[in-house]
Amino acid sequence: MSRPVIEVRGVTKAYGELPVLRGIDLEVREHEAVALIGASGSGKSTLLRCIDLLDEIDDGDVLVDGEVITDPAVQPHGVRKRLGMVFQAFNLFPHLTVLDNVTLAPRRAHGVPKAEAETRARELLARFGLAGREEAYPDRLSGGQQQRVAIVRALAPSPRALLLDEVTSALDPELVGEVLEAVRELKAEGITMLITTHEMGFAREVADEVCFLHEGLIVERGDPERIFTEPEHPETRRFLRRLL
Ligand code: ADP
Ligand code: MG
Repeated sequence: MSRPVIEVRGVTKAYGELPVLRGIDLEVREHEAVALIGASGSGKSTLLRCIDLLDEIDDGDVLVDGEVITDPAVQPHGVRKRLGMVFQAFNLFPHLTVLDNVTLAPRRAHGVPKAEAETRARELLARFGLAGREEAYPDRLSGGQQQRVAIVRALAPSPRALLLDEVTSALDPELVGEVLEAVRELKAEGITMLITTHEMGFAREVADEVCFLHEGLIVERGDPERIFTEPEHPETRRFLRRLL
């Protein structure tokens, strides 16, 4: 088995009095895609935000490549280089062109020379069907194109893993397919990924492991085929039945 890139150990998190993560243990191994599924409000986005250090955990540890990143002594900035996050709402910089959106982090945060950053950005954009759109501003692109730019932007600094939070949820139905195709491409390239999604068919297809989150706890996990055909936990059954 390949080694773990992301390890989550006993992570808890509350917002005020509201416990949102109640002791999460999770591993994402190199080249693996793990899908987190669960009802709205179960804590999926919070978990991704905690792993990317956008939110502070109360207890437990998160490790990347064996190093504890939730230690207060660790610079969040250095961690975010190692993880790439893509949000539901694209979050591109509206005042920057596609090329500048993609090259900003490599150039500013990682000190990659402009020419080199642009060469890599153009290559990645072409691979994700965005050749010719380098000079466009985000508002000139469809939602599907914007989300593919966001994926390329997350990928540009060569992170150790990508965190994808409901990357198709804000899209018109006819644009979902092209973004799922982009995630398939990431998987084919062996990019390590932790994904939250409402697209169960897609989770089943692309994930190596599925984790079902219920009220801040992973109550069931395993092989996608098994989870979707023979869920064991009553809450998993209820959740999947509601989707039919
Ligand atoms: P999911 O992504 O599974 O839908 P979230 O992680 O977004 O769930 O939310 C889990 C719970 O945490 C919800 O009850 C939500 O209302 C609450 N929550 C999320 N973010 C905040 C916040 N910044 N402040 C207070 N409560 C929050
Ligand atoms: Mg969410």
